[in-house]
Amino acid sequence: MQHSVCLARHKSSSEYFCIMDMRIGGTFLPSESGTFFSVLNPAYNMVCDTAPVSSYADVHHAVEVADGAFSIWSEEEPISRAKVLFRAAQRVRDDSTSLSSLLTQEQGKPLRESINEIQGFARVLEYYASICSSIHGDYSYSKAYGHSFVVKQPIGVCAAIIPWNVPALIMGWKVGSALAAGCSVVLKPASTAPLTCLRLGEILDDSGLPPGALNIITGPGAVVGEALAAHPDIAAVSFTGEIETGKHLAQKISPSLKRLTLELGGSDPMIVCADASIQKAVAGAVAGRFFNCGQICVSTKRLLVDASIYDRFIDELMQAMKHIVPGDGMHPKTTMGPLNNHAQKEAVSKQVQDTIDAEQGTLSYQGTMSEHADPNGFFLPPMLLTDVSPDASIMQQEVFGPVLPICPFTSVDEAIDLANSTRYGLGASIWTNNMETVHNIAPAIRSGIVWVNQHLKIPPEVPFGGVKESGFGRENGYQALDHYLVEKSVLIKL
Ligand code: NDP
Repeated sequence: MQHSVCLARHKSSSEYFCIMDMRIGGTFLPSESGTFFSVLNPAYNMVCDTAPVSSYADVHHAVEVADGAFSIWSEEEPISRAKVLFRAAQRVRDDSTSLSSLLTQEQGKPLRESINEIQGFARVLEYYASICSSIHGDYSYSKAYGHSFVVKQPIGVCAAIIPWNVPALIMGWKVGSALAAGCSVVLKPASTAPLTCLRLGEILDDSGLPPGALNIITGPGAVVGEALAAHPDIAAVSFTGEIETGKHLAQKISPSLKRLTLELGGSDPMIVCADASIQKAVAGAVAGRFFNCGQICVSTKRLLVDASIYDRFIDELMQAMKHIVPGDGMHPKTTMGPLNNHAQKEAVSKQVQDTIDAEQGTLSYQGTMSEHADPNGFFLPPMLLTDVSPDASIMQQEVFGPVLPICPFTSVDEAIDLANSTRYGLGASIWTNNMETVHNIAPAIRSGIVWVNQHLKIPPEVPFGGVKESGFGRENGYQALDHYLVEKSVLIKL
């Protein structure tokens, strides 16, 4: 079968890019199925490229190849693994202009956000490269039992399944930690944003990974993703995506008792106390909600503001929202891109309409589109919903789009209750100048992460993940390595 090469041209530029097939065994390989799906540029609803629909045979082949590479990669000296990751990070930085452009064209986000994300991918690799050699076990001695030591060994071939909202960064989290631990990986990117991941995979391979240590298969998650996760030779699965998909996947693979990490949705509250700097909190709310068009698991999804500053806060927020420029992410004036796909646009529009129809909130502000927002693109304007009932579904369900619902609170206890009133527990932020307030609220919030006077910051050194239905397990930090390592106790009686 011939390798397929797809050439596409971005509507507003003369740049061509060229993507070839899945990545298996360190090379681009066509799918055994011979079929492809279209990847759309969400700013125009136009095909920007295609990717193969992997078959069960492809899944099996990828796992088999990864299994072969595991015996090589897991035996590499940690310092050698580190060198590969450092080299890949540098190559990604060197190639960040074209990678960022590709990311914007398949995902929709403004180019400067794509540049941040690509740099973020490189930074994650550098972080894991820097701690590769520090992975170690434990030791103890007793007269009765002798010398006991605990070795940490890579678990085997791992599956990574990721969403479309920040595909490069999330790929970095999973692949960086798995490779540092000595595991081999089969990655399944989202079908609406697989292209940048394929290019990043190529760069990692070209940086010295043994062929097959990282493989990338594409195609519908319900078929390809599920087959991958359930494959008997997959030792651990790391999934990021929606709660319902995560629950379904957990059920599917539970009979095998394989290790599973679930990074799922969030509905992060932002609590603005009376003594907060309104100017900084407004800037934080705008960045927290409208970055990536509101499509981040830890976006500011519910704004809770002390009643004594509520009206002033709304006035200043509306002024700030006027500066948001929705449009094609490739245009330099754009500050907010389109939604990633049509279904997402429809879902968010419905959530807003349902709130208005049920009289559970008022649409107090709606931005205007720039001339760089093509009518065929999946654009929505930035929207502010005020006086939203805490029971409204827009407060209770995750809203993955540019909509900010806001409601007042009258006491710190009420703010905590509101913050904890959903099934989610990913992130939260507290905005105050009073450290006592921080110490009262932070421990009481049921979430995996709490920011103070900031939101959305995810450095690779700090463990990241949820509680409640936002999932379990951690990305980033030393803690993420635990998913990819097994501890073996060796007891020696001399
Ligand atoms: P989905 O759950 O729809 O998809 C995520 C990935 O799973 C995709 O690659 C998808 O493939 C695949 N998939 C779909 N169905 C199955 C299945 N039955 N078995 C195995 N894999 C499957 O999520 P979205 O892509 O829509 O992403 C948005 C969600 O991700 C939001 O809820 C967001 O909050 C969450 N998220 C969580 C983060 C965290 O760290 N907690 C970070 C970022 C996002 P395909 O695309 O082909 O359908």
